Formats: sequence, C-alpha cells, structure tokens
Amino acid sequence: MLGRVSEIFHSVQGEGLYLGEKQLFVRLFGCNLNCRFCDTKLNRFMEYEPHEVVDELKLYDDFHSVSFTGGEPLLQKDFLKESLKLSQQQGFKNYLETNGTLTAELEDVIDFVDIVAMDMKLPSSTDMDQLWDVHQRFLKVASKKEVFVKMIICKATQEKCLREALGLIRNVNKSVIAVLQPNSFEHDDALDALMESFRDICYAEGVTSCIIPQMHKAAGIR
Ligand code: SF4
Repeated sequence: MLGRVSEIFHSVQGEGLYLGEKQLFVRLFGCNLNCRFCDTKLNRFMEYEPHEVVDELKLYDDFHSVSFTGGEPLLQKDFLKESLKLSQQQGFKNYLETNGTLTAELEDVIDFVDIVAMDMKLPSSTDMDQLWDVHQRFLKVASKKEVFVKMIICKATQEKCLREALGLIRNVNKSVIAVLQPNSFEHDDALDALMESFRDICYAEGVTSCIIPQMHKAAGIR
C-alpha cells in the first residue's frame, strides 16, 4: 500500500500545547480544505510503504512523539492507519494534526492515536463555509483520546464565530483546551488586542484557553 508523503523530518513542535517538544514529522500530501491562511500547500511528494515510513523514523532517537501532519493526514486513511500501527508497535507516541473534518476516517484510526491536535475552522478566519456540525462529530470521536483544539484568529475573525466554537466545545467535552493562535501573517497591535479580548471571552464562556503564537516563523526553524 503506497502513500504520498511530502516530507519526513526531525524538528520541534511549533504550535499548540506541545510547543517546543522534539518530534518527528511525517507530512502527508494533500488536503480537502482550502484555508485562506494556509502555509503548507506543498506540491511535491514521494511514495512510501508504511514500513518505509517507520524504518525512517527508527533512524532517530530522543523525541517526544511522531506528528502525522499535512495537508490533511486522514485523507490517506488506510496508509495512515498502517503507519500509525507500525509506529505504535515501535513504542512511539502518535500525535495527529488534523483539520477536524474527516470523522469516519478518524473513527477508523483513533485506537492508534495518542494525542489529537484538532483545528477548528472559524468561517470568518478561513473564508470557507461553516463546519460546526462536522467539527462537533469529529471532536466527539477525538475525545476518546487526549485532544486539544486550535483556532487561528485573524483580524477578520468575528466574535460570534468564537462563541459558536466555544459552545460546541462545551457541548462535547468541557475539559478540552482551546488554543488561540494569532495568524502569523497579520501580526500587529490590533491583532494582539483582539487576541486578549477573545481570551477573556473564553474565560467568561467557561472554556480553558491559552494564546500560543506559531513559533516556527518567529524562531526561524522548520
Ligand atoms: S486544513 Fe491546513 S493544510 Fe488544509 S488548507 Fe487549511 S491550513 Fe492548509
């Protein structure tokens, strides 16, 4: 079974609750969405068998977990599942970075995932249609494991979208932490002020949240 892999590399997690952890990254090719702020639209890939992915991971030591990322890794569900299984058999911890839309695919692989880093796409951030029902179903399945939700906040992000997302989190699993990530392409004082007001709204709505900017670009790391 061949999968399309854009890159495999060793680095430091640059986003979310595991910011700064050493990870191995397996970036799978392709995505089912088209977000306005996307910075990972790669057009190259190599074909791998799942065991070839894990053979490459075995060349490294001293890392926290293996981040299966994309694109959207669940788009290649069968290949992902086999790679996750083999990774787990090696004793590695599996971290899945996902856009939070492919619920049936997640259900099929969740047993082999340790941590889910789930995006929640706010329509006023992404310029796409709302995905609330899809995200709600996805978060229910992801909640079988450790999960946190990441939302990109842009200057155009509307408060009503944030409140909708927080209501959804509260309905599904009150203990899920919301990571508010400022859009790194727009960083200025106005966005900083918006971030702080959004963090206050999270607090008022009873959802634990934190503001964590993307580290890669600021630190100049991959
Ligand atoms: S889900 Fe992620 S990879 Fe896909 S278009 Fe959006 S930002 Fe890019």
